Amino acid sequence: MNAIADLSTADLGALRTRVRNAYDAFRARGLKLDMTRGKPSAAQLDLANPMFSLPGNGDHFTEAGDDARNYGGVQGIAEVRALFAPIMGVPADQVVVGDNSSLALMHDCLAWALLKGVPGSAEPWSKEAAPAFICPVPGYDRHFALCEEYGIRMLPVPMTGHGPDMDAVEALAADPAVKGMWCVPKYSNPSGEVYDDATIRRLAAMRAGAPDFRLFWDNAYAVHHLTARRHDILNVMEACAAAGHADRPFIFASTSKVTLAGAGLALFASSAANVRWYLARASKRTIGPDKLNQLRHLRFLRNIEGVHRHMDGHRALLAPKFDAVAEALERHLAGLGAARWTRPEGGYFITVDAADGTARRVVALAKEAGLALTPAGATWPLGQDPHDRTLRIAPTFPSLEEVRAAAEGIALCIALAAVEKEDA
Ligand code: PLP
Repeated sequence: MNAIADLSTADLGALRTRVRNAYDAFRARGLKLDMTRGKPSAAQLDLANPMFSLPGNGDHFTEAGDDARNYGGVQGIAEVRALFAPIMGVPADQVVVGDNSSLALMHDCLAWALLKGVPGSAEPWSKEAAPAFICPVPGYDRHFALCEEYGIRMLPVPMTGHGPDMDAVEALAADPAVKGMWCVPKYSNPSGEVYDDATIRRLAAMRAGAPDFRLFWDNAYAVHHLTARRHDILNVMEACAAAGHADRPFIFASTSKVTLAGAGLALFASSAANVRWYLARASKRTIGPDKLNQLRHLRFLRNIEGVHRHMDGHRALLAPKFDAVAEALERHLAGLGAARWTRPEGGYFITVDAADGTARRVVALAKEAGLALTPAGATWPLGQDPHDRTLRIAPTFPSLEEVRAAAEGIALCIALAAVEKEDA
Protein backbone atom coordinates (compact mmCIF):
# COMPACT_ATOMS: atom_id res chain seq x y z
CA MET A 1 0.00 0.00 0.00
CA ASN A 2 1.22 3.52 -0.77
CA ALA A 3 1.48 6.13 1.95
CA ILE A 4 -1.61 8.33 2.12
CA ALA A 5 0.48 11.46 1.65
CA ASP A 6 1.80 10.15 -1.71
CA LEU A 7 -1.55 9.19 -3.22
CA SER A 8 -3.01 10.96 -6.23
CA THR A 9 -6.35 12.66 -5.71
CA ALA A 10 -8.10 9.77 -7.43
CA ASP A 11 -6.33 7.12 -5.38
CA LEU A 12 -7.02 9.03 -2.18
CA GLY A 13 -10.69 9.18 -3.14
CA ALA A 14 -10.75 5.43 -3.79
CA LEU A 15 -9.08 4.74 -0.45
CA ARG A 16 -11.53 7.04 1.32
CA THR A 17 -14.48 5.18 -0.16
CA ARG A 18 -13.04 1.79 0.69
CA VAL A 19 -12.15 2.71 4.30
CA ARG A 20 -15.45 4.53 4.87
CA ASN A 21 -17.42 1.54 3.61
CA ALA A 22 -15.45 -0.84 5.78
CA TYR A 23 -15.96 1.43 8.80
CA ASP A 24 -19.71 1.73 8.10
CA ALA A 25 -19.97 -2.06 7.81
CA PHE A 26 -18.12 -2.41 11.12
CA ARG A 27 -20.42 0.09 12.79
CA ALA A 28 -23.48 -1.68 11.40
CA ARG A 29 -22.49 -4.82 13.28
CA GLY A 30 -23.69 -3.02 16.42
CA LEU A 31 -20.91 -4.43 18.58
CA LYS A 32 -20.28 -3.40 22.18
CA LEU A 33 -16.56 -3.72 22.84
CA ASP A 34 -14.38 -2.28 25.58
CA MET A 35 -10.63 -1.97 25.06
CA THR A 36 -10.02 0.52 27.86
CA ARG A 37 -9.24 -1.71 30.78
CA GLY A 38 -5.74 -2.95 31.61
CA LYS A 39 -7.22 -5.71 33.72
CA PRO A 40 -6.65 -9.46 33.70
CA SER A 41 -9.44 -11.48 32.10
CA ALA A 42 -11.55 -13.94 34.07
CA ALA A 43 -9.60 -16.78 32.42
CA GLN A 44 -6.36 -15.33 33.81
CA LEU A 45 -7.86 -14.97 37.27
CA ASP A 46 -9.05 -18.58 37.06
CA LEU A 47 -5.40 -19.64 36.99
CA ALA A 48 -5.23 -18.60 40.65
CA ASN A 49 -8.41 -20.39 41.75
CA PRO A 50 -6.49 -23.04 43.74
CA MET A 51 -5.59 -20.19 46.10
CA PHE A 52 -9.11 -20.14 47.47
CA SER A 53 -8.39 -23.25 49.51
CA LEU A 54 -5.02 -21.95 50.76
CA PRO A 55 -3.34 -21.67 53.17
CA GLY A 56 -5.82 -24.23 54.45
CA ASN A 57 -7.35 -24.99 57.77
CA GLY A 58 -4.74 -24.93 60.52
CA ASP A 59 -1.94 -23.71 58.24
CA HIS A 60 -1.34 -20.32 59.76
CA PHE A 61 2.13 -20.43 61.27
CA THR A 62 5.19 -18.81 59.74
CA GLU A 63 8.58 -20.54 59.71
CA ALA A 64 9.50 -18.42 62.72
CA GLY A 65 6.45 -19.80 64.53
CA ASP A 66 4.42 -16.59 64.41
CA ASP A 67 0.67 -16.89 64.16
CA ALA A 68 -0.30 -15.26 60.87
CA ARG A 69 -3.86 -14.78 62.10
CA ASN A 70 -2.76 -12.14 64.55
CA TYR A 71 -1.55 -8.54 64.42
CA GLY A 72 2.05 -7.63 63.72
CA GLY A 73 4.80 -8.28 61.20
CA VAL A 74 4.61 -4.94 59.45
CA GLN A 75 7.48 -5.79 57.08
CA GLY A 76 5.83 -9.03 55.97
CA ILE A 77 6.64 -12.69 56.60
CA ALA A 78 10.34 -13.45 56.11
CA GLU A 79 9.85 -16.41 53.76
CA VAL A 80 7.42 -14.40 51.62
CA ARG A 81 9.97 -11.59 51.41
CA ALA A 82 12.53 -14.20 50.36
CA LEU A 83 10.18 -15.48 47.65
CA PHE A 84 9.94 -12.05 46.04
CA ALA A 85 13.49 -10.82 46.74
CA PRO A 86 14.80 -12.04 43.33
CA ILE A 87 12.08 -10.03 41.56
CA MET A 88 12.83 -6.94 43.63
CA GLY A 89 16.60 -7.33 43.19
CA VAL A 90 17.50 -6.82 46.84
CA PRO A 91 18.15 -9.08 49.87
CA ALA A 92 14.98 -10.27 51.62
CA ASP A 93 15.57 -7.96 54.59
CA GLN A 94 15.21 -5.00 52.22
CA VAL A 95 11.80 -6.16 50.95
CA VAL A 96 8.50 -5.08 52.47
CA VAL A 97 5.33 -7.05 51.69
CA GLY A 98 2.28 -4.88 52.05
CA ASP A 99 -1.36 -5.41 51.36
CA ASN A 100 -3.06 -5.58 48.01
CA SER A 101 -1.96 -2.56 45.95
CA SER A 102 1.45 -1.24 44.92
CA LEU A 103 -0.23 1.97 43.79
CA ALA A 104 -1.24 2.48 47.41
CA LEU A 105 2.42 2.06 48.46
CA MET A 106 3.47 4.63 45.87
CA HIS A 107 0.78 6.94 47.16
CA ASP A 108 2.01 6.50 50.72
CA CYS A 109 5.66 7.10 49.81
CA LEU A 110 4.70 10.25 47.96
CA ALA A 111 2.44 11.51 50.73
CA TRP A 112 5.03 10.76 53.43
CA ALA A 113 7.77 12.45 51.37
CA LEU A 114 5.55 15.52 51.12
CA LEU A 115 4.67 15.50 54.82
CA LYS A 116 7.90 14.29 56.39
CA GLY A 117 10.66 14.19 53.76
CA VAL A 118 12.75 11.12 52.96
CA PRO A 119 16.26 10.17 54.16
CA GLY A 120 18.50 12.98 52.94
CA SER A 121 15.75 15.63 52.90
CA ALA A 122 16.46 18.99 54.50
CA GLU A 123 12.71 19.45 54.89
CA PRO A 124 9.44 17.86 53.73
CA TRP A 125 8.90 18.06 49.99
CA SER A 126 5.72 20.07 50.51
CA LYS A 127 7.84 22.90 51.90
CA GLU A 128 9.54 23.24 48.51
CA ALA A 129 8.17 26.06 46.40
CA ALA A 130 7.05 23.83 43.54
CA PRO A 131 8.27 20.23 43.71
CA ALA A 132 8.33 18.45 40.37
CA PHE A 133 8.57 14.93 38.95
CA ILE A 134 10.03 13.79 35.66
CA CYS A 135 7.35 11.90 33.74
CA PRO A 136 8.36 9.74 30.79
CA VAL A 137 5.59 9.84 28.16
CA PRO A 138 3.59 8.01 27.19
CA GLY A 139 3.16 6.92 30.79
CA TYR A 140 0.79 5.47 33.36
CA ASP A 141 -2.17 7.76 33.98
CA ARG A 142 -2.45 6.85 37.68
CA HIS A 143 1.14 7.98 38.32
CA PHE A 144 0.23 11.29 36.80
CA ALA A 145 -3.01 11.41 38.78
CA LEU A 146 -1.02 11.07 42.03
CA CYS A 147 1.13 14.06 41.07
CA GLU A 148 -1.93 16.05 40.10
CA GLU A 149 -3.65 15.16 43.37
CA TYR A 150 -0.78 16.57 45.42
CA GLY A 151 0.16 19.53 43.26
CA ILE A 152 3.44 18.09 41.98
CA ARG A 153 4.46 19.62 38.67
CA MET A 154 4.95 17.09 35.90
CA LEU A 155 7.79 17.40 33.43
CA PRO A 156 7.29 15.14 30.40
CA VAL A 157 10.24 13.52 28.66
CA PRO A 158 9.93 11.33 25.57
CA MET A 159 10.58 7.60 25.51
CA THR A 160 13.12 6.35 22.99
CA GLY A 161 12.29 2.66 22.52
CA HIS A 162 14.82 1.67 25.21
CA GLY A 163 13.76 3.93 28.06
CA PRO A 164 13.41 7.67 28.58
CA ASP A 165 15.48 10.22 26.67
CA MET A 166 18.36 10.48 29.12
CA ASP A 167 19.76 13.77 27.82
CA ALA A 168 16.40 15.35 28.64
CA VAL A 169 16.19 13.55 32.00
CA GLU A 170 19.68 14.63 33.08
CA ALA A 171 18.99 18.24 32.14
CA LEU A 172 15.77 18.27 34.22
CA ALA A 173 17.18 16.34 37.19
CA ALA A 174 19.83 19.00 37.75
CA ASP A 175 17.10 21.34 39.04
CA PRO A 176 16.83 21.06 42.87
CA ALA A 177 13.03 21.39 42.63
CA VAL A 178 12.90 18.07 40.77
CA LYS A 179 12.36 15.52 43.53
CA GLY A 180 11.59 12.38 41.64
CA MET A 181 10.85 10.49 38.49
CA TRP A 182 8.33 7.84 37.50
CA CYS A 183 9.84 4.78 35.86
CA VAL A 184 8.14 1.60 34.64
CA PRO A 185 11.40 -0.03 33.61
CA LYS A 186 10.21 -3.31 32.14
CA TYR A 187 7.45 -3.63 29.53
CA SER A 188 6.58 -0.05 30.31
CA ASN A 189 2.98 1.09 30.60
CA PRO A 190 1.99 1.73 27.85
CA SER A 191 4.86 1.59 25.33
CA GLY A 192 6.05 -1.88 26.39
CA GLU A 193 9.66 -0.84 26.12
CA VAL A 194 12.39 -2.21 28.33
CA TYR A 195 14.98 0.16 29.79
CA ASP A 196 18.40 -0.85 28.53
CA ASP A 197 21.51 -1.11 30.71
CA ALA A 198 22.93 2.23 29.58
CA THR A 199 19.70 4.02 30.51
CA ILE A 200 19.58 2.44 33.96
CA ARG A 201 23.27 3.24 34.57
CA ARG A 202 22.66 6.87 33.64
CA LEU A 203 19.60 7.08 35.90
CA ALA A 204 21.67 5.67 38.73
CA ALA A 205 24.69 7.89 38.17
CA MET A 206 23.19 11.21 37.03
CA ARG A 207 23.68 14.30 39.11
CA ALA A 208 20.44 15.25 40.82
CA GLY A 209 20.02 18.83 42.00
CA ALA A 210 17.91 17.60 44.92
CA PRO A 211 19.97 15.56 47.42
CA ASP A 212 16.79 13.60 48.24
CA PHE A 213 15.84 12.81 44.63
CA ARG A 214 14.03 9.46 44.23
CA LEU A 215 13.39 7.14 41.32
CA PHE A 216 9.87 5.76 41.78
CA TRP A 217 10.80 2.44 40.13
CA ASP A 218 7.47 0.79 39.42
CA ASN A 219 8.42 -2.66 38.17
CA ALA A 220 4.77 -3.61 37.77
CA TYR A 221 5.46 -5.96 34.85
CA ALA A 222 8.61 -7.64 36.17
CA VAL A 223 7.52 -11.19 35.26
CA HIS A 224 4.80 -10.45 32.71
CA HIS A 225 6.39 -11.80 29.54
CA LEU A 226 4.58 -12.28 26.23
CA THR A 227 7.31 -14.28 24.47
CA ALA A 228 9.67 -17.10 25.39
CA ARG A 229 12.29 -14.47 26.17
CA ARG A 230 12.14 -13.42 29.81
CA HIS A 231 13.68 -9.98 29.54
CA ASP A 232 15.96 -9.00 32.37
CA ILE A 233 16.90 -5.47 33.32
CA LEU A 234 19.96 -4.16 35.11
CA ASN A 235 19.61 -4.25 38.90
CA VAL A 236 18.76 -0.64 39.74
CA MET A 237 19.59 -1.01 43.42
CA GLU A 238 23.10 -2.24 42.64
CA ALA A 239 23.61 0.35 39.90
CA CYS A 240 22.57 3.18 42.24
CA ALA A 241 24.74 1.87 45.09
CA ALA A 242 27.73 1.54 42.74
CA ALA A 243 27.22 5.17 41.67
CA GLY A 244 27.10 6.37 45.28
CA HIS A 245 23.30 6.88 45.29
CA ALA A 246 22.15 3.88 47.31
CA ASP A 247 19.04 5.68 48.57
CA ARG A 248 17.88 6.77 45.10
CA PRO A 249 15.43 3.98 44.12
CA PHE A 250 12.07 3.23 45.69
CA ILE A 251 11.19 -0.09 44.03
CA PHE A 252 7.58 -1.24 43.72
CA ALA A 253 5.86 -4.32 42.32
CA SER A 254 2.82 -6.43 43.03
CA THR A 255 1.11 -9.69 42.26
CA SER A 256 -2.03 -7.95 41.04
CA LYS A 257 -1.45 -9.36 37.57
CA VAL A 258 0.21 -12.54 38.77
CA THR A 259 -2.46 -13.93 41.09
CA LEU A 260 -5.51 -11.78 41.80
CA ALA A 261 -5.94 -8.10 40.94
CA GLY A 262 -7.45 -6.77 44.15
CA ALA A 263 -6.34 -9.63 46.36
CA GLY A 264 -2.65 -9.80 45.53
CA LEU A 265 0.43 -8.69 47.43
CA ALA A 266 2.11 -5.30 47.07
CA LEU A 267 5.89 -5.09 47.34
CA PHE A 268 8.32 -2.35 48.26
CA ALA A 269 12.11 -2.59 48.24
CA SER A 270 14.91 -0.14 48.73
CA SER A 271 18.12 0.61 50.62
CA ALA A 272 18.28 -0.33 54.30
CA ALA A 273 17.88 3.35 55.25
CA ASN A 274 14.82 3.81 53.04
CA VAL A 275 13.25 0.59 54.32
CA ARG A 276 13.72 1.82 57.91
CA TRP A 277 12.14 5.14 56.92
CA TYR A 278 9.26 3.32 55.22
CA LEU A 279 8.59 0.99 58.15
CA ALA A 280 8.66 3.83 60.65
CA ARG A 281 5.85 5.49 58.71
CA ALA A 282 3.98 2.28 57.85
CA SER A 283 3.89 1.12 61.47
CA LYS A 284 1.91 4.25 62.34
CA ARG A 285 -0.53 3.53 59.56
CA THR A 286 -1.18 -0.14 60.34
CA ILE A 287 -0.58 -2.76 63.02
CA GLY A 288 0.29 -5.22 60.29
CA PRO A 289 -0.64 -6.51 56.84
CA ASP A 290 -2.82 -9.46 55.87
CA LYS A 291 -0.33 -12.24 56.53
CA LEU A 292 -2.78 -15.02 55.69
CA ASN A 293 -2.79 -13.74 52.13
CA GLN A 294 0.99 -13.78 52.27
CA LEU A 295 0.96 -17.44 53.33
CA ARG A 296 -1.64 -18.17 50.66
CA HIS A 297 0.70 -16.76 48.02
CA LEU A 298 3.66 -18.67 49.40
CA ARG A 299 1.80 -22.00 49.41
CA PHE A 300 0.54 -21.39 45.88
CA LEU A 301 3.62 -19.95 44.12
CA ARG A 302 6.20 -21.74 46.32
CA ASN A 303 9.34 -20.24 44.77
CA ILE A 304 10.55 -18.08 41.91
CA GLU A 305 10.30 -20.99 39.44
CA GLY A 306 6.69 -21.35 40.53
CA VAL A 307 6.11 -17.67 39.73
CA HIS A 308 7.57 -18.09 36.24
CA ARG A 309 5.58 -21.27 35.61
CA HIS A 310 2.40 -19.51 36.65
CA MET A 311 3.20 -16.56 34.39
CA ASP A 312 3.62 -18.96 31.45
CA GLY A 313 -0.09 -19.68 31.90
CA HIS A 314 -0.88 -15.97 31.59
CA ARG A 315 1.33 -15.73 28.55
CA ALA A 316 -0.55 -18.55 26.81
CA LEU A 317 -3.78 -16.61 27.26
CA LEU A 318 -2.40 -13.17 26.42
CA ALA A 319 0.02 -13.66 23.53
CA PRO A 320 -2.74 -14.56 21.01
CA LYS A 321 -4.62 -11.37 21.92
CA PHE A 322 -1.58 -9.19 21.35
CA ASP A 323 -0.92 -11.06 18.08
CA ALA A 324 -4.50 -10.43 16.97
CA VAL A 325 -4.13 -6.68 17.45
CA ALA A 326 -0.79 -6.63 15.63
CA GLU A 327 -2.24 -8.66 12.76
CA ALA A 328 -5.20 -6.31 12.24
CA LEU A 329 -3.06 -3.17 12.44
CA GLU A 330 -0.60 -4.66 9.96
CA ARG A 331 -3.33 -5.74 7.54
CA HIS A 332 -5.12 -2.39 7.49
CA LEU A 333 -2.38 0.13 8.10
CA ALA A 334 0.98 -1.19 6.87
CA GLY A 335 2.50 1.25 4.41
CA LEU A 336 -0.22 3.91 4.78
CA GLY A 337 2.00 6.13 6.89
CA ALA A 338 -1.01 6.67 9.13
CA ALA A 339 0.25 5.02 12.32
CA ARG A 340 3.12 3.40 14.18
CA TRP A 341 2.55 0.80 16.83
CA THR A 342 4.53 -1.20 19.35
CA ARG A 343 5.08 -4.98 19.39
CA PRO A 344 5.56 -5.40 23.14
CA GLU A 345 7.26 -8.53 24.46
CA GLY A 346 5.54 -8.19 27.81
CA GLY A 347 3.19 -6.09 29.87
CA TYR A 348 -0.42 -5.16 29.27
CA PHE A 349 -0.59 -2.58 26.50
CA ILE A 350 0.00 -1.76 22.87
CA THR A 351 0.69 1.87 22.05
CA VAL A 352 -0.40 3.21 18.70
CA ASP A 353 0.70 6.59 17.45
CA ALA A 354 -1.95 7.58 14.92
CA ALA A 355 -1.44 10.46 12.49
CA ASP A 356 -0.74 13.70 14.37
CA GLY A 357 -3.91 15.51 15.36
CA THR A 358 -6.19 12.46 14.93
CA ALA A 359 -6.19 10.52 18.22
CA ARG A 360 -9.30 12.21 19.59
CA ARG A 361 -11.07 11.69 16.27
CA VAL A 362 -10.11 8.00 16.32
CA VAL A 363 -11.59 7.60 19.81
CA ALA A 364 -14.77 9.40 18.70
CA LEU A 365 -15.12 7.26 15.56
CA ALA A 366 -14.59 4.15 17.67
CA LYS A 367 -17.26 5.24 20.13
CA GLU A 368 -19.76 5.75 17.29
CA ALA A 369 -19.02 2.18 16.24
CA GLY A 370 -19.61 0.77 19.73
CA LEU A 371 -15.95 0.47 20.64
CA ALA A 372 -14.71 2.06 23.87
CA LEU A 373 -11.06 3.18 23.75
CA THR A 374 -8.98 4.83 26.48
CA PRO A 375 -9.48 8.61 26.11
CA ALA A 376 -6.90 10.21 23.84
CA GLY A 377 -4.35 12.04 25.98
CA ALA A 378 -4.67 9.65 28.95
CA THR A 379 -1.02 8.66 28.69
CA TRP A 380 0.16 12.26 29.13
CA PRO A 381 0.29 14.40 32.28
CA LEU A 382 -3.04 16.19 32.81
CA GLY A 383 -4.48 14.19 29.92
CA GLN A 384 -2.95 16.57 27.40
CA ASP A 385 -1.21 14.99 24.44
CA PRO A 386 0.31 17.95 22.56
CA HIS A 387 0.42 15.92 19.33
CA ASP A 388 -3.02 14.35 19.79
CA ARG A 389 -1.71 11.07 18.41
CA THR A 390 -1.10 8.46 21.14
CA LEU A 391 -3.64 5.68 21.72
CA ARG A 392 -3.35 3.04 24.44
CA ILE A 393 -4.83 -0.31 23.56
CA ALA A 394 -5.54 -2.79 26.33
CA PRO A 395 -6.18 -6.24 24.86
CA THR A 396 -6.05 -8.33 28.04
CA PHE A 397 -9.58 -8.22 29.44
CA PRO A 398 -11.90 -9.00 26.49
CA SER A 399 -12.09 -12.48 24.97
CA LEU A 400 -9.89 -13.30 21.97
CA GLU A 401 -12.92 -13.05 19.69
CA GLU A 402 -13.72 -9.60 21.04
CA VAL A 403 -10.11 -8.49 20.72
CA ARG A 404 -10.07 -9.63 17.07
CA ALA A 405 -13.21 -7.63 16.32
CA ALA A 406 -12.04 -4.59 18.26
CA ALA A 407 -8.62 -4.56 16.57
CA GLU A 408 -10.33 -4.55 13.19
CA GLY A 409 -12.41 -1.56 14.26
CA ILE A 410 -9.46 0.32 15.73
CA ALA A 411 -7.43 -0.10 12.55
CA LEU A 412 -10.35 1.15 10.44
CA CYS A 413 -10.89 4.19 12.70
CA ILE A 414 -7.20 5.09 12.49
CA ALA A 415 -7.19 4.77 8.71
CA LEU A 416 -10.41 6.77 8.36
CA ALA A 417 -9.18 9.57 10.63
CA ALA A 418 -5.94 9.77 8.62
CA VAL A 419 -7.80 9.94 5.29
CA GLU A 420 -10.13 12.62 6.67
CA LYS A 421 -7.10 14.62 7.80
CA GLU A 422 -5.55 14.41 4.34
CA ASP A 423 -8.86 15.56 2.85
CA ALA A 424 -9.16 18.54 5.16
N1 PLP B 1 1.82 0.31 38.12
C1 PLP B 1 1.59 0.15 36.81
C2 PLP B 1 2.62 0.58 35.83
C3 PLP B 1 0.38 -0.38 36.38
O1 PLP B 1 0.15 -0.51 35.07
C4 PLP B 1 -0.59 -0.76 37.33
C5 PLP B 1 -1.90 -1.28 36.93
O2 PLP B 1 -2.29 -1.23 35.81
C6 PLP B 1 -0.30 -0.58 38.68
C7 PLP B 1 0.92 -0.05 39.05
C8 PLP B 1 -1.28 -0.94 39.75
O3 PLP B 1 -0.72 -1.88 40.58
P1 PLP B 1 -1.45 -2.42 41.88
O4 PLP B 1 -2.57 -3.27 41.44
O5 PLP B 1 -0.38 -3.19 42.57
O6 PLP B 1 -1.90 -1.24 42.67
